[in-house]
Formats: sequence, structure tokens, C-alpha cells
Amino acid sequence: MRLETLAIHGGNIVTDSEKPVIQPITLSTTFIHQEDSMIYSRANNPNRASLENLLAKLEQGADAAAFSSGNAAGVSVFQALEPGSHIIAPDDMYHGLKKGIQTLFAGVLEASFVDMTDLDKVEQAFKSNTKLIWVETPSNPLLKISDIEAISRLAKAHGAILACDNTFATPVFQNPILFGADIVMHSSTKYFGGHSDILGGALITKSKNEFWEKIKNVQITGGAVPSPMDCYYLCRSIKTLPYRMKGHAEHAMVLANYLSQNSKIEKVFYPGLKAHPGHEIAAKQMSGFGGILSFQVKEGADAADRLISKLKYYTNATSLGGVESLIERRAASEGPDTLTPQNLIRLSLGLEHLDDLLEDFEEALK
Ligand SMILES: *Cc1c(COP(=O)(O)O)cnc(C)c1O
Repeated sequence: MRLETLAIHGGNIVTDSEKPVIQPITLSTTFIHQEDSMIYSRANNPNRASLENLLAKLEQGADAAAFSSGNAAGVSVFQALEPGSHIIAPDDMYHGLKKGIQTLFAGVLEASFVDMTDLDKVEQAFKSNTKLIWVETPSNPLLKISDIEAISRLAKAHGAILACDNTFATPVFQNPILFGADIVMHSSTKYFGGHSDILGGALITKSKNEFWEKIKNVQITGGAVPSPMDCYYLCRSIKTLPYRMKGHAEHAMVLANYLSQNSKIEKVFYPGLKAHPGHEIAAKQMSGFGGILSFQVKEGADAADRLISKLKYYTNATSLGGVESLIERRAASEGPDTLTPQNLIRLSLGLEHLDDLLEDFEEALK
């Protein structure tokens, strides 16, 4: 099955005797004891099974685990490591997960935050206890591109697991497992949900091994699992994911080109631009460049805030990946210790008409 077909049919494991076309919502938390029956919905339920089956197929993995948020998914990987393990993670890692490592695992895990676009720095960061390399590509919010294949070679040479946060690219544009990643992570809150109304996360594994068993144990015993309702909605949303991604990426490319030619804009970060330092690697490992871009406003943070307030169709709110365009001055959301430039605006292009999205900026930048 090709991706568009898989997105529509992969999430329907219909076992119901009525033969519905769509996987029904099973709210029951418990199941009648029978051979091979499900037992209790924290461990498994039909809607989560459908979602996990779909996610594993979309990412070309062997299995998937769904969580109640992207952070719960990411933190589960760290929880599955032996105490004393060392992690190499990007210096611009999604700020919520970086905070997770620093606050929840202080004294338990060691971490080095490095510039993942510099392979020498990654190589130098390895220690005898390095067990996990974490990449996020494209990264949030600077759209930095890491070479998954090259980093997977380094990880293998040192016996470490490679995990990739694939939230920005989605399986429509990038399958990290095909480039050597062992684990793929998603915030399903973003493009999978796609309508800014579901919180969720997921992990997909290349193979069912001992580390995956530990992650499944964190999922089931830790219990940060999504509800059957959330799983149902995610399966429903993912049916349109391939077509939504095409629209998001088309809009982002046009806006990136427009903004990079405007005299009030200092710099645009979008991997689809030839001038982007990661463009060639992105073109190698991605089949599209995604729907997020960021840019710096020449006159600074206040001018950035003024620009945001003038836009009609872009909602000033955090998050990304919905059908509605969202915009925010990112440093304001990340807090005082952020490395993100104060004049940086992150834009999540929605599926409004392209001309409205473009004209809105033309008007606001006059
Ligand atoms: C939003 C996000 C997360 C965290 O996901 P939640 O669903 O908010 O917990 C992790 N990584 C990236 C790249 C994200 O954008």
C-alpha cells in the first residue's frame, strides 16, 4: 500500500460482528476473560491497537506505542534507560523534553547537549556510558537539519540507540527508520491530530528488542496512555495527513520565499530554501520540507510582536501542525533561559487559502 492508501485503511482493524466500515470506539475499560482477549484498557484496547498498528506501518517500523502526550512518549525513552546512562541530545532540543531530562532525571541520567549539525561535535560527545543519541530534525524552532544516516553510523559504532523526534517532518516526508534510527518519536498533538484538539504522543520501533520491551513496560505500567476516544480521533485525522502535509509544505515554501525577499526580515529558516545550511541533507532524507518556518525580524522583539498583532489570519498561539495557521514569538514561550533569538517568529502554515496567507503578510509588512 502506498502512503495515502495506508493512511486511510491502516487504522481499521474491525473485529465487530456488525461489520462497520470504521473501527468503532470501545470505551470499556475491561474485557470478559477469554483466551486471547484483551484484559484491561491501560494494557491495551481496540482503538489503541488500531492506532499503534497504523503508526508502525506509516513509519515502516515493527511496533508502536501510543502515549497521552509527546512529552510522555519522549520521557518514556529516557525512563527505559539504565540509571547512569549518558544521552547525547541536540542543544536546541524541543524545550519541554530538554527540561524533562534536566529536571526529572537529574542525578539519574547524564546528558550532553550538542550541535547535532556538527558531526565532529557529536563524535566528541561520546562517553563510555553513552546509551542514547537523540536527534530532532527539522528542529524546533530553528529548523536545523541533522544527518540521520551519518549520526546512526556514529551511534552504531558506539553501541548506542538512535532516537529521532520526527514531529516536524511526519512519516509523509521522512522515515527515520530507513536512515538507521532505532526509535521514532512523535508529538501526535501536532500534524497527526492536525486540528489543535488532541494531545498525544507516540514511539515507533525498528525492531521488537529488549529495549522496546522496556519502553512497552514504561507505557503500560507507567500508564501515560491515550484514551480510546483520542486514539479514535487520531486514526480519523491521519486519514487526511498525506494531503494536509502537501498543503502545509506548499504554503510554507511560498511564504519562506516571500519573507526571505522582504527588507524588514533579517533571516528565514526553512529547509526548502537553497540558502538553508541543511538544504542538501534535507533533500536527501526528506521527500518534502514541512509546514513550519521561522524568521528573525530586523528591528527586534518589539517589532516582531507588532507584526504578529497586525496579522488577521495567523493566530498568536503556541503549538503547530493544525489546519489553522499559528504564529508566535518563540522565545516568549520558551522562558528566560532559552537560546532562541528574541526576534525569532515561528510560523505554522495552515490550510487557509494561500493568497489570504500571503496578502495578510503583504499588508502587515507595509
Ligand atoms: C510539541 C512537541 C513535543 C512535545 O509534545 P506534546 O504533545 O506537547 O507533549 C516534542 N517535540 C516536538 C518537536 C514538538 O513540537
